[in-house]
Amino acid sequence: MDEFRFISKVKQNVYAQPSLLKGVGDDAAVFRNGQSDTVTAVDTFVENIHFSRQTMKPFYIGYKALAANLSDLAAMGAKPAYYLVSIVIPEHWSDIEIIDIMNGMKSLAQQYNIDLIGGDTVSGKELTISVTIIGFAKSGKARYRHVSEENDIIFVTGTLGDASAGLHILQNKQSFENEQYFIRRHQQPTPRVDFATSLNDISRIALNDISDGISNEAHEIAEASDVSLHLYAEKVPVHLYLQQFKIEKQTKWKYYGGEDFELVGTVSEQEWPKVQQIAQQTNTKITAVGYVSERKEGTVFVHNKDNSIYQLEKKGFIHLK
Ligand code: ADP
Ligand code: MG
Repeated sequence: MDEFRFISKVKQNVYAQPSLLKGVGDDAAVFRNGQSDTVTAVDTFVENIHFSRQTMKPFYIGYKALAANLSDLAAMGAKPAYYLVSIVIPEHWSDIEIIDIMNGMKSLAQQYNIDLIGGDTVSGKELTISVTIIGFAKSGKARYRHVSEENDIIFVTGTLGDASAGLHILQNKQSFENEQYFIRRHQQPTPRVDFATSLNDISRIALNDISDGISNEAHEIAEASDVSLHLYAEKVPVHLYLQQFKIEKQTKWKYYGGEDFELVGTVSEQEWPKVQQIAQQTNTKITAVGYVSERKEGTVFVHNKDNSIYQLEKKGFIHLK
């Protein structure tokens, strides 16, 4: 299949977004939007670095690539509207597999009413998918990492470490309890878009999405805001069935496990009840896990049940190290 046939296959016949003036089919896409702030991000996925065919069917590769981008927009409090896909296709990938990748994206795109408005299709050595996402935040309501303040409550959505457990299950021949749940969390993560875009009444909230583990993301908030974050070990939410794994694994996955695509944030005590209410309205599990202190170190501490405290290392997956 040549690039033009491919493009005509992936091109949408109708578009969901009213602000679109021109989608696929010209040199560039055009949309018009008046009131809101435009928020955009790009993420690139390379075979055998970000995914492998051993653990991911093509459909899920696409699904997850778009989910990661949606999660970035959620972390900004923005409603996603458009995406563009640049894809490098090697010879050993079949047409059907590539279409399946695009179908994985499409199924998620339909859930969120977002449109594919452009991209680029080329041949090359390694399957590489780059997804650009564009969305809108209510004017002045994009959510940043640098706004965290002393005495804020730290919260996280969902449960942490599930995606790592799912990958572990996929890479092991053994059977585990609740396997399908963990595998699904690895292959088809749920970006917290509904929750994040319902926070418009909150005056100040810091948000970051958990793509590299809460340790990394909490550090990013602490550094950007010039504060320190304190987490209570017991409160960091994990799935009940995570207990079937060795304690070292549980701890590693909970703090350093990538790709859960949950949100971590901080908000004032006064506004915390409102955030809880929004979480409930959007069917989002939310848990208070700690507090912010004014120590201007950009550090993250873990408080154990026995009152001992240790500093959490900032680590996660780092490219080009
Ligand atoms: P040009 O040569 O002007 O860059 P192309 O032939 O690369 O245009 O692409 C034609 C149209 O198809 C453009 O609108 C482009 O954005 C779109 N397109 C190309 N590849 C993809 C893709 N993988 N997904 C979605 N749209 C694509
Ligand atoms: Mg082009």
